[in-house]
Amino acid sequence: MAGFTVAIVGRPNVGKSTFFNRLLEQRKAIVDDQSGVTRDRQYGVCEWNGKTFNVIDTGGFVPQSEDVFEREIKKQVLIAVEEANAIIFMADAATGITDLDEAMADVLRRTSKTVFMAVNKVDNPERLLEATEFYSLGFDNIFFISSMTGSGTGEILDAVTELITDKEAAEQEEINELPRFAIIGQPNVGKSSLLNALIGQERTIVSDIAGTTRDTIHTRYNLFQKDFMLIDTAGIRRKTKVHEDLEFYSVIRAIKAMDEADVCLLLLDAEKGITQQDLNIFSLAVKKGKGIVLLVNKWDLMAKETNTARDYEKVLKERIAPFTDVPVLFISAKDKQRIHKAIEAALEVYSNKQRKVPTSQLNEVMLKAIESYHPPVVRGNPVRIKYVTQLPTHVPSFAFFANLPDDIKQPYKNYLENQLRQNFNFKGVPVRLFFRKK
Ligand code: GDP
Ligand code: GDP
Repeated sequence: MAGFTVAIVGRPNVGKSTFFNRLLEQRKAIVDDQSGVTRDRQYGVCEWNGKTFNVIDTGGFVPQSEDVFEREIKKQVLIAVEEANAIIFMADAATGITDLDEAMADVLRRTSKTVFMAVNKVDNPERLLEATEFYSLGFDNIFFISSMTGSGTGEILDAVTELITDKEAAEQEEINELPRFAIIGQPNVGKSSLLNALIGQERTIVSDIAGTTRDTIHTRYNLFQKDFMLIDTAGIRRKTKVHEDLEFYSVIRAIKAMDEADVCLLLLDAEKGITQQDLNIFSLAVKKGKGIVLLVNKWDLMAKETNTARDYEKVLKERIAPFTDVPVLFISAKDKQRIHKAIEAALEVYSNKQRKVPTSQLNEVMLKAIESYHPPVVRGNPVRIKYVTQLPTHVPSFAFFANLPDDIKQPYKNYLENQLRQNFNFKGVPVRLFFRKK
């Protein structure tokens, strides 16, 4: 992960996700109640004292047997140590020191990275007295906190942010401002191949260790004067007994990657065409206001005649209607064909998504379009749209002020959206139209 990263480790039920949620001030972590099931790691960005850093909640693993558990926990800790710049090692004052705490402490004492010991569930002064036994684990940076009430959490964050140098903070800031592209698509559509083709190397990741699966991976791409973050779920395979789980988790991951992105590169398999699952993901991206580029991959496998691409695109657009103002590229991740074009398209969509049309220009163009084709009269009352303005939102949104906003129906809204799209470049970007009374 790029930027300063803090991992929260600790055995299950000590309160890691409670703490994580408190840091992010939102309920982001998913708690999986099924026993024997790994819980995904959660990633989030925390801001404190004007510094931002990544936080990983390493999740939990419900033991089937003690020895397996200990091995898995150790792996989890090692991976967290490898990935993070600092560790928050959490334990539970209510239960006191357990064998697993000892085992984890053993691993953590050997790392050169800074470890903050957080003794959680210190909800009251009596607990604080009992909690002093945790000094015996040998960590100097020890904090007694209550994730539930928030007491002590500020102190630990102060200590963490003190570690972050201004240089690292500036880097993180820069990274936060980069365009974020998610590579999404169904299993075997070619996500890993595309990623490898782009970054020019095979990236191997921890994939088959229970308790350490992750949802998304962020890679900074900085080549050919292009600088952006790639968010992918490629190669992430969860160990699962049930086959249908794979499909399910692949959808969950696609949604997570999507949430973290500005623009989604949705990969389709040329031979399969667009499936119902792809359409679901597509319409979700539209609902979430994400930029979209459609990449028809494995184009090398298609028998091509003069109009193959054109005809293919036509059929594709019929399926994705009504939002068809989307770039479609025919690529081959395997042969590295048009993959840079795909990135250019994503950058263009990103800049379209940032577009702010000056009000004067917007009114000049749109009022003319309205003049040449008025909204249909409802119940004998002419509808007049007087003024249009773009709202200061992340998803390009436009407010139309009218005398009778409720009388403007969908076909006319579509007309307005088309006019907007014809006059200003919003290719690949869902836009929103609002009608208000004036
Ligand atoms: P994780 O498995 O380490 O992520 O632990 P959770 O965050 O899921 O918390 C396990 C349980 O401990 C939940 O029932 C939480 O409500 C509870 N818990 C978490 N933090 C505190 C705390 O500061 N005080 C008390 N009393 N309970 C807490
Ligand atoms: P992922 O599951 O979406 O990450 O898909 P992979 O990148 O692992 O690719 C799945 C399979 O499709 C592999 O056998 C790849 O070699 C193959 N593949 C990926 N991209 C292409 C392509 O552009 N053309 C062809 N012919 N095969 C591809």
